[in-house]
Parts: sequence; C-alpha cells; structure tokens
Amino acid sequence: MNRLRENLEEVMERIAGACARAGRKEDEVMLVAVTKTVGAELVRKLYELGIREIGENRVQEALRKAEFVGELEGVRWHMVGHLQRNKVRHALRLFSLIHSVDSTRLIEALQKEAEKRELHLPVLVEVNVSGEQSKFGIAPEALDEVLNSISSSENLKLRGLMTMAPLVDDPEKTRPIFSTLRKLRNKYAEKGYDLPELSMGMTQDFEVAVEEGATMVRIGTALFRGLLGWCS
Ligand SMILES: *Cc1c(COP(=O)(O)O)cnc(C)c1O
Repeated sequence: MNRLRENLEEVMERIAGACARAGRKEDEVMLVAVTKTVGAELVRKLYELGIREIGENRVQEALRKAEFVGELEGVRWHMVGHLQRNKVRHALRLFSLIHSVDSTRLIEALQKEAEKRELHLPVLVEVNVSGEQSKFGIAPEALDEVLNSISSSENLKLRGLMTMAPLVDDPEKTRPIFSTLRKLRNKYAEKGYDLPELSMGMTQDFEVAVEEGATMVRIGTALFRGLLGWCS
C-alpha cells in the first residue's frame, strides 16, 4: 500500500511538473489508472487512495475484475484497448467512456447498443498518428468520415481523440505524435466538432503528452512498480 501510494504520488508530481512547464492547470489532466496487469485487490487499493478512473483493455477481464471489486461509489471504467464489435454488448454493461473507437462499423454497433440501453455514451476516436501497421486506430485522413458518423449517431457523444505513440528509447521522440494529435483536434474543433479531450500519454511518455495538451493520461506500469514481484 505504501509503495502504491508512493508510486501514485510520484506520478501526480510528474504530471504537475509537466503542467507547470506547459503553463497548464493540474486539474486539466485526468489520470486513468490502467489496471490490465493487476488484480482486483490493487484496483480497490487505488480506490482507497482516491483514484476513480480505471482503465482496462479487455472486456471480459474487466467485467470479471469489476465483479470482484464490487460496487465502488463513483468509479468510472474506461475502455482503452481495441474493441471488437461482438464485445460491444458486454462492454456497455461496464464502461463509461470508450477511448478506442476506430471504425464506422464499430460506431454502428455502439450506437445500436447505446440506444437499446437508453444511454448517451461518450466516445473518443483513436487515431493512428504514427502510421505503424501494428497499431489500431484510424488514419488521420479518415477522421472526417468517422467524426461525422459519430455526430450523426443519436446515442453517442463525441468527446475527443486518443492516440498511442510508438515505443521509443527517448520519450522526447513521441512529441511530434502528440502535437500532431493536438493539431488534428484543433482543426476539427474549428470545423465545429466537440473535441475537448485528448487521451494520450502512458508510462514512457506521459510528461511529454501533458506538455502537448493531454487531458487524459493512461498509466499502468509506473503505478505498479515494485508491487508485481522481483521482475518489476
Ligand atoms: C497498457 C496500456 C496503457 C498503459 O501503459 P503503461 O505503459 O503500462 O503505462 C495505456 N494505454 C493503453 C491503450 C494500454 O493498452
């Protein structure tokens, strides 16, 4: 618990430092604790330390974990991984924000399920800025179509963009990826789309992401250092 608290404090301090360097306010950046590598017990401990935003990348595992954790007042589950259309029904039992919308077919499936559940589901569009083949997310050229499709879906609420930077040895190398996402957001905001959120930055690069305008950072590894046995 102490170690978890220390890790959390360190991450919060580094976010604060990045905010200060960029002239931003700390409360503009939300920490989403990505718990995909840890069990329900650590989710509960994070909750006790004040964390309310929990990220997972697999639907079934998240549902199982959530069941173990039990009702925690005010917790919001974030889907940060690739979402398959056949998992949408289950996903909407749990998640309050989908970070990873990456096709018009997924949008159709989400709209249908959100309508059935009488929800207005907030979503982000994942953009593959780096163009890596291994990455999910739409090409920047497809943004027009995808944003338009979400906007015309009555039960979906467009909230912003998300991206993942490539793995790098020096976090500074991720800066162009994050600044490109910010510029794309600005461009489409000017066209009238509502895009307040930029979900970008993980353990390797969250400070750079915050300097470039992230409003949500998705962090796992840095929170759980020293808690997962000798190898971490
Ligand atoms: C695992 C994961 C994260 C967190 O990554 P860390 O390097 O452990 O901080 C963030 N975003 C997505 C989409 C992930 O799958």
